[in-house]
Parts: sequence; C-alpha cells; structure tokens
Amino acid sequence: MTMTFSADEDFALRLDSEDPLRPFRDKFHLPLDGNGRPLIYFAGNSLGLMPKAARQLVEQELADWASLAVDAHLGATTPWYSYHETLREPMARLVGAKPNEVICMNSLTVNLHLMMATFYRPGKERFKILMEDPAFPSDTYAIKTQIIHHGLDPKDALLLARPRKGEFTVRTEDIVELIQRNADTLAVVLIGAVNFFTGELFDIPAITAAARKHGITMGVDLAHAAGNVPLSLHDWNVDFAVWCSYKYLNSGPGAVAGAFVHERHATNTQLPRLAGWFGNDPNTRFRLHLEPEFIPVASADGWQISNPPIFSMAPLRASLAVFDEAGGMEPLRAKSERLTGYLQFLLEEAGSNRFTVITPREPGGRGCQLSILSHEHPKELHKKLEAAGVKADFREPNVIRAAPTPLYNSFHDVWRFARILTEH
Ligand SMILES: *Cc1c(COP(=O)(O)O)cnc(C)c1O
Repeated sequence: MTMTFSADEDFALRLDSEDPLRPFRDKFHLPLDGNGRPLIYFAGNSLGLMPKAARQLVEQELADWASLAVDAHLGATTPWYSYHETLREPMARLVGAKPNEVICMNSLTVNLHLMMATFYRPGKERFKILMEDPAFPSDTYAIKTQIIHHGLDPKDALLLARPRKGEFTVRTEDIVELIQRNADTLAVVLIGAVNFFTGELFDIPAITAAARKHGITMGVDLAHAAGNVPLSLHDWNVDFAVWCSYKYLNSGPGAVAGAFVHERHATNTQLPRLAGWFGNDPNTRFRLHLEPEFIPVASADGWQISNPPIFSMAPLRASLAVFDEAGGMEPLRAKSERLTGYLQFLLEEAGSNRFTVITPREPGGRGCQLSILSHEHPKELHKKLEAAGVKADFREPNVIRAAPTPLYNSFHDVWRFARILTEH
C-alpha cells in the first residue's frame, strides 16, 4: 500500500474528517492539559485511555455487591461466578483464537510463569530458552528464574537473539538461524510479538514454523501486540501466549490479563500445570473438600486458578465491546498503518538529524509505535514535549516512544506532535 501524505495542517484535518473511526475518540476520556485542552496522548502502549462505558459497568458491580453480597455470585446482573466467560469470545476474536483456547486471569507475568510451568519441562537434551534482546525486564526475570527454578544456570540455558552490530532491531532470519543451530537443545522460544522498546513487529508465523519444525515449544508475549496488530494465534500454531489488557486494550491499571493455550494442548487434561479450584471441572468444583482430586477443564479454563477478579474485569468488558463495535482489528490496523505512516512521513519530511526512528520503516514490520532515538539532549526534548501537552514516554537512555492509536488518536494529533518535536 502506498500512501501519499502532505505536511499541511489542512491535510491532517481532512484525513480526520474522512476517517470512519473518528467517532470512537469520543468513547474515551482524554486527559486535559493545564488549559483544558486534550493532551496529545501517545502513551497507549503504556496505559490505554479509559473507555467512558467502563464507569457504568464498574458501578453496576459495586451496586450488586452492595445489594446482593454473596448472592451476586449467581444472582448479579452479570453473575460473578462465570464473569470471565463474558470476556472469552471477544478476547478470542482479538488474538485470533478459538474460544476454548483463551482464558482471562491474573496478570501478565504471572500468566507467563503459569504457562512456563506447563511448557518448560527441561530435560537432559532440551533445556534452553531463546528470547529476543532487549526483552521487557519482567519477562527476562521470569525466564531466568524459571531456569534457576529447574536447577539450571541462565548462562547455559538462556539464548538471546540480538540486533546485528549497527542495527537496532532483530532480524527474523537471525532468530530462525539461532533456532536451527540450537535445534537439539532448545526447549522453548519466547518472543515478544511487538518489542516494547523498538516497536518491531516480529514475523511470528515464520518463527513459530521454524521452532515447531524442530519440536520446540513456541510462546509469545503479546503485551504490545494485543489490540495493536492483527493476530492469528490458532492458525499460526503458536503453543501458548500471554498478554496484559491495560496497554492497547484500555482496560485500566493492573487489569486482568489473558492467556492462550493452543487447542491441541488445551484439551489435554494430562498436561502438568499449577492448579487451583477454578481450573477444576465445574461439576465437582463445589464439592470442595469432598473432591481432593483435581480434574482440569478440557480447555484453557483448565489453567485458571482463582475466582474471577470482577472489578478488574468490568472495564475490560467495556473495552472489548468498543473493539467489536469498531469492527475488530482489520479496520483498526488499516487506520493504524496510515496514522503511524503519517507520523513517519512528517518526521522524515522535517529531515532532522537530531533524531533517528529505530522502528522498522515498512508497516508490516511494526505496530503503531515509533521509537525515536534522540541524538541531542534526549531528556530535554522529552520535557519539551511534555510542556507542550504531549504524553509520550521516555526510555533510558535516549528513546522517546510515541504510540498513536487508531481508536482515540487523530491525524491532527500526529501533525501537532511532529511539529512540536521538529521545531527548534
Ligand atoms: C507491560 C509489559 C509487562 C508488564 O507485566 P505485568 O505482569 O503486567 O506487570 C511484561 N512484559 C512485557 C513484554 C510488557 O510489555
């Protein structure tokens, strides 16, 4: 797809007026600057904005708690006992899964540990884990401590796929090459589908095919991918995936996370796992102490441990409804490519040698985020952006991450951001 852009403000305004997703901006609370104007909010990769519909759904749960208390488990407007089931199908649509492959539970890093408990069973031959570098620190801590938990040393068991010298992002071919070279000793490949730092979108189907060809388990962290790029976890044949819902999924701080277990494993009740009562067959769940035997549900639900956290799930219901109303990831991705493409165009047009965009240039190699490496006074530049009403984050030592999202950002937001960034 080629796109012709112009740096005129009128052009940005015209793109907004022609944008079919334009009305969705009004479904979110946009934080305001000191003068009461909406911030240019490009931090949805860190914490997505609040859907206006979230308040009513949370208040409903508070009201049911107040008036029904324990009886709300079965008698609430949306019964608490099965509340997680209301999230299953919309969430499965967003990640390209079958409903029986998805469970919303816990938080992201916890789910990563739970998936590793099932899928990382190191033996004498196969004991290594391959990750990209730099990975998000929580993932690195989780993976290193998993290795140590099994009595191994990360120095022997952790392989890192790094950018080549002079490059910022990791090439798919280099990951595939590492997989082939370590095919006999690798147990698990874990890749963040969109890298938190560079914004690179990895070729997950190609990496998964390379791993699975050698019998290696493929896990994906979707923290920066869910709600950002189209995903087809089932068809790609990924073994497991985990993600949070407070970034592009706009469901509020620390909100409930997701996990995917491919059907071929999800239905296998023999797989080892760390269990709790909500993963047990509902027919015997409430026999409690009379049923000491754990009988997992033959779906991703078999990994659920605890009863659902209602107050963290209510905003996610509101958010997932917005994604469905927008028509899912396809129209969102179409706008996202234009929005981010426009940002890239404006930055290149300004031709500043004060910064370098380290995110891949082709739209297929990235999500909505551009990572802007500042060559001079990066902290001052970030302060200047903040002072001008921009919310974009700063990653040490010198990278500003800007993530225009298709649900609530406008082309005019992008135009204003680029002007503030590039003016002297
Ligand atoms: C945001 C993020 C996390 C955060 O983990 P929590 O368990 O939700 O606190 C972990 N990993 C990646 C890749 C992230 O982007």
